Amino acid sequence: MRLLVVEDEGKTGDYLKQGMAEAGFVVDLARSGTAGLQLALTQDYDLAILDVMLPGLDGWGVLAGIRRAGKDLPVLFLSARDQVEDRVKGLELGADDYLVKPFAFTELLARVRTLLRRGVKPSAAEFLRAADLELDLMRRRVTRAGQRMDLTAKEFSLLELLLRRQGEVLPRSLIASQVWDMNFDSDTNVIEVAMRRLRAKVDDPFEPKLIRTVRGMGYVLEGPDCEP
Ligand code: CA
Repeated sequence: MRLLVVEDEGKTGDYLKQGMAEAGFVVDLARSGTAGLQLALTQDYDLAILDVMLPGLDGWGVLAGIRRAGKDLPVLFLSARDQVEDRVKGLELGADDYLVKPFAFTELLARVRTLLRRGVKPSAAEFLRAADLELDLMRRRVTRAGQRMDLTAKEFSLLELLLRRQGEVLPRSLIASQVWDMNFDSDTNVIEVAMRRLRAKVDDPFEPKLIRTVRGMGYVLEGPDCEP
């Protein structure tokens, strides 16, 4: 999942980016409203975290620009001001949540996850499944045949992506941009290594195998009912 963070305060921005990356998100950080809006309009994000007080274009302006462009991604505001009118203004402009600084990172993370779940179709909101493999989005847990697996944050994101787009062959370039914050570079084997580790956990000890390598193209996760 890709997040956009727009925050002009150096330390707060770095802290948000690092924390969210450690939680398994791919994060783009913009230091001004103009740069943030530019990214929001040209890239695909699952959620944006906007500071209100920004030099030039403020958080309200960024949100207005995002909504004007017809983008309906969830937006969470961060603000040092906790005035009622700010809250109301944000919600009127189409913000989805509002958090007052200073905040606990765990609180922010919980709200981000809630907003992301809200955007998913209700039937698929909490669990992603293929055969007897189940990913619990709320508890961040993965089980197969009822057996709990320990996945790293990256492995979890990788599996989440494969499950959300089951049956679709995902090119390495897409996996690289969605799970790692990087452009695809054929010299790196980071995707292969992570995929091997993921398969060792969720596929090797079980039947049927769900993740398949499509030579020269990428990877696909298919439950037994999607097979031709
Ligand atoms: Ca600020």
